[in-house]
Amino acid sequence: MMKIIFCGGAETVTGSCYLLKTDSGENLLVDCGLFQGSKAIKERNYGDFPFEPNEIDWVLLTHAHIDHIGRIPKLYKKGYRGPIITTKITKELCAVLLPDSAYIQEMEVERKNRKNLRAGKPLLEPIYTVSDAEECIKLFEGKGYDEIIKLNDNVSLRFTDAGHILGSSIIEIWIKGTDEVKKVTFTGDLGNYDKPIVNDPEILEGTDFLVIESTYGSRNHDEEDEAARIEKLSEVIESTFNRGGNVVIPAFAVERTQDLIFDLNKLIQQGKIKSENIFLDSPLAIAITEIFCKNADSFDEAAQDFSRETGKCPLEVQNLRFTRTAEESKAINNIKSGAIIISASGMCDAGRIKHHLKHNLWRRNSTILFIGYQAQGTLGRTILDGARKVKIHGEEVTVNARIESIKGYSSHSDQGDILNWINNITRKPELIFLVHGEVEESSILKTLIEENYQIETHIPYYLEEYTLTKRARPVSHYDFSRKTAAELQEELEDLLSQLQQVGERLILEEEYHKADELFKELKKKLT
Ligand SMILES: [Zn+2]
Repeated sequence: MMKIIFCGGAETVTGSCYLLKTDSGENLLVDCGLFQGSKAIKERNYGDFPFEPNEIDWVLLTHAHIDHIGRIPKLYKKGYRGPIITTKITKELCAVLLPDSAYIQEMEVERKNRKNLRAGKPLLEPIYTVSDAEECIKLFEGKGYDEIIKLNDNVSLRFTDAGHILGSSIIEIWIKGTDEVKKVTFTGDLGNYDKPIVNDPEILEGTDFLVIESTYGSRNHDEEDEAARIEKLSEVIESTFNRGGNVVIPAFAVERTQDLIFDLNKLIQQGKIKSENIFLDSPLAIAITEIFCKNADSFDEAAQDFSRETGKCPLEVQNLRFTRTAEESKAINNIKSGAIIISASGMCDAGRIKHHLKHNLWRRNSTILFIGYQAQGTLGRTILDGARKVKIHGEEVTVNARIESIKGYSSHSDQGDILNWINNITRKPELIFLVHGEVEESSILKTLIEENYQIETHIPYYLEEYTLTKRARPVSHYDFSRKTAAELQEELEDLLSQLQQVGERLILEEEYHKADELFKELKKKLT
C-alpha cells in the first residue's frame, strides 16, 4: 500500500521532508530541509533521519530555500548516493547555498567547541561540512518545467512553476499501484501573485492526494500593491536623503534582494533615485543575483518587457556596486549620507548587516527599511517592534533612526490565494494534507477547505505515517480497538507519571498526540 511519512514541515514551517513509499517498494523523498527556530526544533537537525538514507531511491526538491534543501548534505554524509532531481535553476542555486550553509554550520560548531573545551564538555560535530555540500551537488539533475520525467515503469513526475522564488516548483508524481495509477502532488511553497521577477503559481489540473503549504493559512496579506510598494520605497529613500542619512535594507539573499534591486532599477529609470552609492553588501546575495541574471529568460513577462526596453537584465543596475571583500564592506561605513545599503542576513541575526546597523541605528537621519518577515527573537524583530536600545556585537546601540517596513514583497500565497488555488483544481483531491504551517494557521485553513470544498483535510504531525488508499486512514495512530478500561487506565497513569518527570520542558508531538488520543478514547468509553 502506498504510504506517506511526514518527516518534517509537519505542524511547523521548517524542516520540510516527506517520504513517499510506493506499492512496488520505491522510496521517494520530497525535500530535505533544515529545521529552524527554537532550540528544541533545531535539535532535530542533529539526530538520525527517521529512515535509512541509502534506502531512498530518488530525492526531489521543490525549491532552493534552506528549510527545503538544508539537510541534503547530511543525507549525503549519511550515505545517500542516488539522484537529486529538481529544476535547473534550483540546482544552480543549491550549488551556492549549500556550501554557504555548511560554512555557517562549521563556524557555529567551532565557536561552540571553543566554549565546550574551556568548560571540559564533549566536542560537537557539525551537521555537515563544506566538503559534504560540494560532493552532494554532483548528484543533482536539473530539469525543465512541464516535462514528464519517467523514473521507471512505475513512477513519473513533472515540475511546474510554483511562483514562489526563481526555479521553485510544484511537483506532480504519478505512481502505478497494484491496479491503478494514483497522483500525489506537493505544492512546495506557493507563491504570491503579481510579484516582481517570478511568474504566478501554475494551476493544477487534478490530483488524488495533495500536500499543500499553509504558512499563511489564517491570514490575508494586508500589503501594498506594486504601485504603492514602489511609491513607498521611493518616499523612504528620498526623505532619508533629504535628512542627510543612509537607507539600510536587511534582505534575504534569494529572491527578496533581487525583487528589491528590480524595484530600485524601476525608480532609477524614472529618474526618482539619483544615488551614486547603492551597495549590495553580501557575497552570497551577489552570487545569487548573478545566477538570476544568467536565467533572465525565466523571469516573468513584466521583467522581460523591462529587459527588452532597457536592453539589459533588470538586475544590472547603474551605480549598484557589489562589495565582495571585507575591506570594501568596511569602506561603506565612511559614507554618511546618500547611500542605499542592501545586506544580509534578512533578519539581522548574522552577517554584514550587523555592522551597517551599528553605524546607522544611532543616527537620527538614517532609515532602517525592513522588506521581509522578522521572526520572533531576531535582532530585526526587536528593532521593528520599537526597542530603544539593542546589543550588537556586545555593544549597546541606541535606536534613533527611522524604522520603516514595506509588506508588499511577500513570496507566499495568503489564505485567499491558497483557497483560490484549490478552487481552480478541476479534478479535486480526495484528501489534502496541510503542511508547512503552525498548527493554528493550518487549523483555520482546514476548516475553510472542508466547509468550502467538502474535501477531507488532515494536519499531519511530525513522523505521522498515512496510507494513501481511496479512503485514506492514518496507520500509526494508536490502536485502541481492543483495549479494556483497565488497560487504558494503566496507560494513562504511566503517561501521567512520564509527563510529571518531563516537568517544564515542552513535550514532543508524539507524546502530545499519545496523550491526546488516550484522553479522547477514555472520554468515549466513559460517555
Ligand atoms: Zn520557500
